[in-house]
Amino acid sequence: MAKWRIMAKRTGNNRYLREMNQALLLDIIRVREGVSRIALASFTGLSATAIGAIVKGLLEEGYVHETGSGESSGGRKPVLLRLMPNRWFGIGVDVDARFLYLSILDHAGGVLWQRRQEGDGRVSPDATVSRIGALATEALRETGISKEKILGMGVSVPGIVDRRTRNIAFAPNLAWTDASIRGPLETAVGLPVLVENESVCSTLCEQWMGSCRLVEDFVQINIDTGIGAGLFLKGGLYRGTSGSAGEVGHIIVEDEGPLCTCGNHGCLETLSSLDAMLREAKASSFESFQATVRAGEPGCVAVMERASRSLGRAVAMLVNTLNPSRIVLGKRFPEYADLALRTVRDEVERLALKWPFAQMEVVPASFGEESSSYGAAILPIRQLMQPQQG
Ligand SMILES: [Zn+2]
Repeated sequence: MAKWRIMAKRTGNNRYLREMNQALLLDIIRVREGVSRIALASFTGLSATAIGAIVKGLLEEGYVHETGSGESSGGRKPVLLRLMPNRWFGIGVDVDARFLYLSILDHAGGVLWQRRQEGDGRVSPDATVSRIGALATEALRETGISKEKILGMGVSVPGIVDRRTRNIAFAPNLAWTDASIRGPLETAVGLPVLVENESVCSTLCEQWMGSCRLVEDFVQINIDTGIGAGLFLKGGLYRGTSGSAGEVGHIIVEDEGPLCTCGNHGCLETLSSLDAMLREAKASSFESFQATVRAGEPGCVAVMERASRSLGRAVAMLVNTLNPSRIVLGKRFPEYADLALRTVRDEVERLALKWPFAQMEVVPASFGEESSSYGAAILPIRQLMQPQQG
């Protein structure tokens, strides 16, 4: 709450300040899920007159609506403001080598439409742009949402996004180098487009609508065919100097481990990713591997055990380095958390320093494979409420 007081812009009445205060009030209304004008004034230090004027604008634009009434401290009960569902929307697309996952979320966080479309083998940037265009058109047609109500489109990619050029600097699973899809996609769909790393998108999803809504420092590790992480530190996403922060898949956890695509041996990804477990267990699919582990087949149980210990080792390093209050294990991990979480936690406890370990917890993510698509949809919505976050 002290943060909101600092963020509120009290001086002047120009458009920029007004827009920043409007964004701030929207964000407070989102986080508090029902708040009175009086409370908004006390949270921000803005005058009742200023709050009244901004809220009037928010009501007219359909960003918020008035509902129910709150606790009264004597006298008339104050009307509560909430985000208006089903009025403004963001589209999110998770671009994966195997599929596209498109979702539409409203700015209140409701999921209105989602579809996972299997890949057709074409993963070039051009083909991806036209496939996204077609799927978005289908989504808008089926939901009947007009384009004027869409705040923008976010795209999640499994690679490093150059913060300067906004190009995809390197996406090994898609075999893209310095690829630009933002411009072509904006032309194709007629919407502003934001491109973001896949793990960062999942992290944003967990922070915006999952278990980390009120958490200031956490790391989300996505376990899928590869492994990556998003860092949420000091209340904001941390991307590093050139946009590659969170490449935890290449933390070396076994000196003599398997050879990694990066050229080193024993990277986390070569031991704890889905691909690594499948290779080690000689299984045909992750579903059948999980079933075999659940049935107690010793070879597969040992593979899961080793993967979980390696993951725990990497988590312990992050706990010691960053002192987060939570490490969230996401993407495919929630599907098999019952088989792995205990081993991961035991290994973290064994290896991490006592002080940071005592202050934190290791938890499965609230969302699974859909998290990157949801997080991508949140990108344009977040610009409306947290424009300073970038
Ligand atoms: Zn590596």
